[in-house]
Amino acid sequence: MKKSVNILGATYKILYKNEPWIIPNISETTVGSCDSANKVITLLTTADYHTLLHEITHAYLYESGLLNYSGDECLVEWIARNCEKICIAYGKWIPSSKAIDISGRCYKLINTNNDSCEILNYRSEIKVPKNAASTSRTYIIILGWLWESGLDLYSEDETLLNWLVATIPKIVMSGE
Ligand SMILES: [Zn+2]
Repeated sequence: MKKSVNILGATYKILYKNEPWIIPNISETTVGSCDSANKVITLLTTADYHTLLHEITHAYLYESGLLNYSGDECLVEWIARNCEKICIAYGKWIPSSKAIDISGRCYKLINTNNDSCEILNYRSEIKVPKNAASTSRTYIIILGWLWESGLDLYSEDETLLNWLVATIPKIVMSGE
């Protein structure tokens, strides 16, 4: 069991409990929590990997200064559930790929000569230069993944999108 995790230079201690506990203020029972002010993540001993990723995501948002987002349980849970799958999809996107699976939907990859990447949701197509930077490809996958999840609101948020591109791989590595 992990005893600590490094979040953007801050060391978070990981503590374990044998029974679910009640969060003060909201009187809800939980199996994981993240106290960013004191740099402590608490997990139920039997909590799964997904719970760890959820609490790590809270910590990353907090340490990035994105305090509004760190309290957004919908976003945090979406990241925790999808970050690994997004990294796997990225890993499968090799230069000769003709198509890519984005959250269960097959997108056709079309090589273009200009520099910009474009995802056409309604046509299940992605236009992309052959030698697109890895960040451009990650950006496209995350954008498509948000659409496929019905989270269009987040896909219009450029600050959040760029943060996701930079941080999703780090969240997955921290969880390992
Ligand atoms: Zn949470």
